[in-house]
Amino acid sequence: MKVVVIIPAAGLGTRMASAASIKGKKPAASKQFTELAGTPILIHTLRKFAASAEVTEICIALRANEIAGFRTRLEKEAKDVVKKKIQFVEGGEHRQQSVAHAMTAISAAADDIVLVHDAVRPFVTAEIIHEVIEAARKYGAAVAGVPAVDTIKEVQRTAEGAVITATIPRERVVMAQTPQGFRYEVLKKAFDEATADGFLGTDEASLVERSGHEVAVVMGSARNIKITTPADLELAEFYLGK
Ligand code: C5P
Repeated sequence: MKVVVIIPAAGLGTRMASAASIKGKKPAASKQFTELAGTPILIHTLRKFAASAEVTEICIALRANEIAGFRTRLEKEAKDVVKKKIQFVEGGEHRQQSVAHAMTAISAAADDIVLVHDAVRPFVTAEIIHEVIEAARKYGAAVAGVPAVDTIKEVQRTAEGAVITATIPRERVVMAQTPQGFRYEVLKKAFDEATADGFLGTDEASLVERSGHEVAVVMGSARNIKITTPADLELAEFYLGK
């Protein structure tokens, strides 16, 4: 049984870039190419999956003009990654489209497992990867998640900002991370339905939920951060230094 990992890495990183331009710096490279200890975040992330014996292949969605250069860099600097079967696809306008392109490109049987993981979460652990694969096999769909520590408010946006309309009991909330893992047939059905309905979600689980399949949650980690803002990058440098 195969485990195929899809890494959407075709984002522009506008939240990172706009913060850089506010500070008067030249806009940063897309965040997945920002270097941590001399290595692009994307390569740190790929190494975590390449190190898993359960993972059989990896499909990376990149912007078209970045594919050739990144392939060369991987072959030169990351022999541990290219020992796995690596496939590249062109990303789309939104994350969901980048993953959809990868779903079209990969070949998998109904029972094979597909993991989707953000390029910019390099601190995923071997244990989390294993737990998500196991739960995806058992339940058909599973995500890594962590309990909320803050009190979660529902708000209504206003011209000045927002006003609170409700408080959501914290015990009913989980912050969804990646990896998110699925039996291929479950994810394929969810993507086909989302495409037919024009639904755009911010993660794969939301597509699977709306297609009527239960999604299990396994314990993620507070360190499994999605590097999104310059503050996250400072935290990532700290984690890497440990
Ligand atoms: O921007 P966001 O936080 O949704 O990015 C999450 C992940 O999705 C990142 O790894 C980013 O590179 C990827 N992405 C993508 N294609 C897009 C937008 C984001 O592959 N069009």
